[in-house]
Amino acid sequence: MFQKILIANRGEIALRVLRACKELGIQTVVVHSTADSDAMHVRLADESVCIGPPPSRESYLNIHQIVAACEITGADAVHPGYGFLSENAKFADILAAHNITFIGPSGDHIRIMGDKIEAKRTAKRLGIPVVPGSDGAISDEKEAKRIAAAIGYPVIIKASAGGGGRGMKVARTEADLEVALQTARSEAGAAFGDDAVYIEKYLEKPRHIELQVFGDGAGRGVHFGERDCSLQRRHQKVWEEANSPALNAEERARIGGICAKAIADLGYSGAGTIEFLYENGEFYFIEMNTRLQVEHPVTEAITGIDLVHEQIRVASGGGLSVKQEDIKFNGHAIECRINAEDPRTFTPSPGTITHFHTPGGLGIRVDSGVYSGYRIPPYYDSLIGKLIVHGRNRVECMMRLRRALDEFVVDGIKTTLPLFRDLVGNPVIANGDYDIHWLEKYLAKEE
Ligand code: ADP
Repeated sequence: MFQKILIANRGEIALRVLRACKELGIQTVVVHSTADSDAMHVRLADESVCIGPPPSRESYLNIHQIVAACEITGADAVHPGYGFLSENAKFADILAAHNITFIGPSGDHIRIMGDKIEAKRTAKRLGIPVVPGSDGAISDEKEAKRIAAAIGYPVIIKASAGGGGRGMKVARTEADLEVALQTARSEAGAAFGDDAVYIEKYLEKPRHIELQVFGDGAGRGVHFGERDCSLQRRHQKVWEEANSPALNAEERARIGGICAKAIADLGYSGAGTIEFLYENGEFYFIEMNTRLQVEHPVTEAITGIDLVHEQIRVASGGGLSVKQEDIKFNGHAIECRINAEDPRTFTPSPGTITHFHTPGGLGIRVDSGVYSGYRIPPYYDSLIGKLIVHGRNRVECMMRLRRALDEFVVDGIKTTLPLFRDLVGNPVIANGDYDIHWLEKYLAKEE
């Protein structure tokens, strides 16, 4: 087991990882920018190193500073959290070259899944169902037209280097295709420095369903069931559930089995998420994330397994603590992402939290690094906390969520809490009957 882990992140996820380390009796080092000296995880860590000024490029993305902090403190492993350097293959390689363990998969696996065309090709080879579309990058408009005609309109043009929903354009007819192709290409070039694009069938009313998987790096793979993240705004997840209201146990076991086998065959190590669109009973792979996800706590709630403990165990060579047959799904869980944003316009609302009171009681978990008197710096993501509620079934979970949202107090800044208070009473949400476009349409109507 590791002696000392360096946490290369900030906010609620840094605290989340720190908690897991403490439980396992591992010493902790946190690195932080000058804007985060007052953060809760900095106060709680055994050691902290300031690695630079507020801009992420000069601190949380500064590989040299982070490696230097490992060497100064004698950390033997790094947990990257999510975002920042968590899917940076070069970072994983550099740590390996310094004999520091990256708590995550190999640089090569990160590289494959970071290139969406390569990821899709790999998924297909491993027997994972994919969205019908081009086999690789599109070379010209003629080829795009030929493929679109074969798979049928509407189609979506996507950037190979894509992320965060950028570089995607829908074409409903052949007449739209030329513009869609050009716009997607120039957006991709500007955002990612790589204008390779590919084409896929556009699904009209899918759900976003993702499978939590784990590999032990030695040829064993397991799945921890799915999460439904269909409630999105601008391709950003807002509310996540486990299990999905749309799947039954048989479908879960079938797609879970396919994913676990793929992970085993790939020789993958650590946590991963295989993301699908789901429509009319069919799964279509869209991408794989090679890290811990923001929404991992809903899986922890229904399985009772600490996924960060598992990541640390696997990375240290100790293997997974569970076999597939040990993973049972118990009840229902929902996560609400609480952002420091105006609940109607979603513009960021940094500032000082004058009062912070979290709900409690059976089945409630709040993952947050903020506290009364904390000043939210304006430089980073607006996520200030996650409310995760567990119940014996979805109805009980929703009842408890409504009560927990009533109890939650965040004064001094605007947050997205009012949005969730509204959603929890909505009949469409109560029925679990929503697709990936539902929330955007709902918000547009409310304006
Ligand atoms: P990114 O990495 O940029 O987030 P994804 O491939 O994960 O890109 O897609 C993001 C979102 O875009 C999906 O959750 C879905 O809402 C939409 N999307 C992607 N591909 C398709 C498709 N083939 N049909 C319909 N919607 C899609």
